[in-house]
Amino acid sequence: MRPAGRGEYDSLYFDYPYYAFERPPELDGTHRRHTVAIVGAGPVGVTAALELARHGVASVVLDDKDTVNDGSRAICISRHSLEILQQLGVAGRFTDKALGWRYGRTYFGEREVFRLEMAHSEQERFMPMYNIQQQYIERFLIERAQETGLVALRWRSRVRDVDAGDDGVSLSVDTPEGWYRLDADYVLAADGARSGVRRALGLGLQGEAYEGRYVIADIRMRSDFPTERRAFFNPPALPDSTLLVHRQPDDIWRIDYQLGPDDDPDEALKEASIRRNVGAVVEMLGEADDWELEWWSLYKAYTLALDDYRHGRVMFIGDAAHLVPIFGVRGLNNGFADAMDAGWKLAWRIRGWGGDGLLASYTPERRGATLDVFANAGRSTRFMTPPTRGYRLMRDAALSLSLSCDYAGGFANPRQVTPYTYADSPLTTPDTVPGFAAGPAPGAPLVNRRLGEDDYLLDHLGPGFNLLYFSDAGDVEPAHRESLEALAGGAMPLHCLVVGARVDEHAPWTPVPDPDRGIAAAYGARAGSCYLVRPDRHVAARWRDLDTAALYRALATATGGMS
Ligand SMILES: Cc1cc2nc3c(=O)[nH]c(=O)nc-3n(C[C@H](O)[C@H](O)[C@H](O)COP(=O)(O)OP(=O)(O)OC[C@H]3O[C@@H](n4cnc5c(N)ncnc54)[C@H](O)[C@@H]3O)c2cc1C
Repeated sequence: MRPAGRGEYDSLYFDYPYYAFERPPELDGTHRRHTVAIVGAGPVGVTAALELARHGVASVVLDDKDTVNDGSRAICISRHSLEILQQLGVAGRFTDKALGWRYGRTYFGEREVFRLEMAHSEQERFMPMYNIQQQYIERFLIERAQETGLVALRWRSRVRDVDAGDDGVSLSVDTPEGWYRLDADYVLAADGARSGVRRALGLGLQGEAYEGRYVIADIRMRSDFPTERRAFFNPPALPDSTLLVHRQPDDIWRIDYQLGPDDDPDEALKEASIRRNVGAVVEMLGEADDWELEWWSLYKAYTLALDDYRHGRVMFIGDAAHLVPIFGVRGLNNGFADAMDAGWKLAWRIRGWGGDGLLASYTPERRGATLDVFANAGRSTRFMTPPTRGYRLMRDAALSLSLSCDYAGGFANPRQVTPYTYADSPLTTPDTVPGFAAGPAPGAPLVNRRLGEDDYLLDHLGPGFNLLYFSDAGDVEPAHRESLEALAGGAMPLHCLVVGARVDEHAPWTPVPDPDRGIAAAYGARAGSCYLVRPDRHVAARWRDLDTAALYRALATATGGMS
């Protein structure tokens, strides 16, 4: 909602782009079968299109709107998501605009009870978290998609019905100039929380709804307070409530406050109520400048998911597959990971580089990630909005205790999103011999290392599988050389990075300098150690001493039965 007198897209800081409807050939009787159709040009659908394009697969993306989302939704984007966006060639646009941060404060009443500090070091290219409005996120992704030449965006195109068969999927699409049928080999359903694709296939989300409703309000206010997450329990401005405050670019501040069980949501959403409550919060924050109201809405937390994220040739990604509470900022961050997972697997299946097992691994991996989110986000949500009086008493007792006991401060830790480890995935080969004292375990994402000025390990990954091989005196061991050369020159995209290698113009791999052996130490590696890495940066397998037969077996497993 916007203040009286302002239109839906009448923002104080953001110029909404307009994406025109273009008459598709199907409306004039030209039918062609598309390889992949994506329903929904929200952030998750467009990310999936970019991942498909990265592997050379074209897609058509259908959206019923002609601009980006009208309110303000996701604002906190994690480092892992920035690393995904880097792979898609769009991270620079985000870091130019977004506000990076790593600290937070939790208050109980008027006292600060916990100082959040997210892990960070000079080895990282990106900060642990960035604040940026979802409008910018969507616009940057769409701009990148338009550059690829492999993503056809069709606006004002509403998918009304879905006919999913064994050989392909047929979509009925409504447009301002009539409806048409669009045929595709595969469909990615990225049409959000109220997914029409889900409904058309007769599928429903399962899970629970949480107590408590939140008002989400954005205001414009000039303030010198740094970019940190501030959480207030029982704040003086709104007693008995919970309040979150976040800074966003363009002097926009997000203020989320909880409604009491007896508050009437219609009354609470009236502009006068919003101005009264936000005004009290601004005063409590000690801000002297005037502020302007940008937008507000009501939010309620759910943990809901489909039982299966894949139905034949239709795969569900993002909010169409699951709804998670906003506390801990997991919705879009998980959606990005869904899009990468579904995107590379579908691309590899289509390109003939992967077997059937690839698509079958999508649900276990990504639903596994959702269930993990439910466990963490459920705890955060109950802490933010206690479901019962007893729970609230316990929570307040923990917060009171943290005034005097450091260890109790941990209860107030918001446990922000962390990337999921695909340890139990059918694509992952577990360690057979223990021996790695450090480094990402099979299923976990790679860790970054700084190589020099504006130069990091992850910058050097190729778009397909990667092999991180550790050398000692600068050479690949003779016993491994032939296999590495064969893999690097094979039909399937596989990029070899040899850590500690001498520069050799004739070698089919990228040398990565490691003069102080810092990368080897971070990966628990010695000469001949090796990590096999999937296109989404997750480790498929690793060996302290490379066994080339085992490497080929692991590659076959990681590509769902092909290599
Ligand atoms: C208040 C709030 C705060 C949030 N904060 C965070 C945060 O800080 N961090 C975070 O990670 N997440 C956050 N989230 C969650 C995040 O906004 C969502 O997870 C994210 O928008 C999901 O993206 P999506 O692309 O899956 O779906 P959507 O963004 O909903 O996009 C779906 C798209 O599909 C289109 N569509 C729908 N139906 C059809 C149809 N039939 N035909 C064609 N097109 C269709 C829609 O127009 C839309 O463009 C927040 C959410 C809310 C509500």
